[in-house]
Amino acid sequence: MKKIKLRFAPSPTGNLHIGNARTLILNYIYSRSRSGEMLLRIDDTDSQRSDEKYTKSIIQDIEWLDINCAETHRQSTKIERYKEISEHLISKGRLYPCYESDEELNRIRKLNLSRGKPPIYDRAALQLSKAQIDNYKSDGRKPYWRFLLDHHDIFWSDLIRGHQKIDCSSFSDPVLIRADGSYLYSLPSVTDDIDMGITDVLRGEDHVSNTATQIQIFQALGEKVPNFGHHSLMVLKDGSRMSKRDGAMSLSDIRSSGIEPMTLMNYCARIGTSDSIEPYQKIDELASTYDLSKLSRAPARFGFDELEALNKKLLQNKSFESVKDRLSEIGISD
Ligand code: GLU
Repeated sequence: MKKIKLRFAPSPTGNLHIGNARTLILNYIYSRSRSGEMLLRIDDTDSQRSDEKYTKSIIQDIEWLDINCAETHRQSTKIERYKEISEHLISKGRLYPCYESDEELNRIRKLNLSRGKPPIYDRAALQLSKAQIDNYKSDGRKPYWRFLLDHHDIFWSDLIRGHQKIDCSSFSDPVLIRADGSYLYSLPSVTDDIDMGITDVLRGEDHVSNTATQIQIFQALGEKVPNFGHHSLMVLKDGSRMSKRDGAMSLSDIRSSGIEPMTLMNYCARIGTSDSIEPYQKIDELASTYDLSKLSRAPARFGFDELEALNKKLLQNKSFESVKDRLSEIGISD
């Protein structure tokens, strides 16, 4: 069996919250269950929003969980490589320059909607004459770049959702490079997945439509498409969205509330499945029972009370030997 390789790819624009932690833990346990590995990729191409302090705190959280990343990469160090790949796509006619401003794009969108047409980009940039392009350039406009999608259906067999079919004719050609030259997420992500030999991409279902675009980029580059799995998102018990603004707990909140790393591992690996959540003490015990296909497509409901109850069970089952040092740190000895 080929060794699988996964990646956890957070953007360092905030602290990890329980929802991101679940993606991390699912990736890690899946890699362990198949004797594979997982690497950490810091998606920091957006220099405006990325912050080193978040990269540090992500690494700290991963260490606290005792998760072993085979490699660590930062996208901000790979800009030359992304340039190479974009030039390759340009030479194949799959990446094309556009000159519309945001206001112009908005106006065209509204016009299309008012005429009952779908608000998708009409590829007007492909019809520009050389004189028009020269005019834009002499006006000082810098192009942004879109990927020319094939307007056909994309299929894949999702590790969690099963057979998927996405009709790409309903999408605008996605922008891969902004007018200031910075890269949006898809091109660096596909480039790294290729360069780092990623076999399986496991991420939240908010990325399903990106996957269709990304599959087309892999194909345009003549590369093997990895397996994809999209897990449902985590919501709060009342069904409301989990985001920092809505009060989702950060990993550091969880840590300081006394939750053990293995409690969080057990909880995140099993929540959203029909399996009961067990207080395993060791990652390999958990990994050996792990089955991705058991993840439900319904949102996973997070309850801190459940996490606390599991933590109690886990602590009760711990041997004295395993907690001896920590007890003596707080002045308790046998
Ligand atoms: N940086 C992206 C995110 O945090 C990565 C998504 C992916 O795993 O491809 O959403």
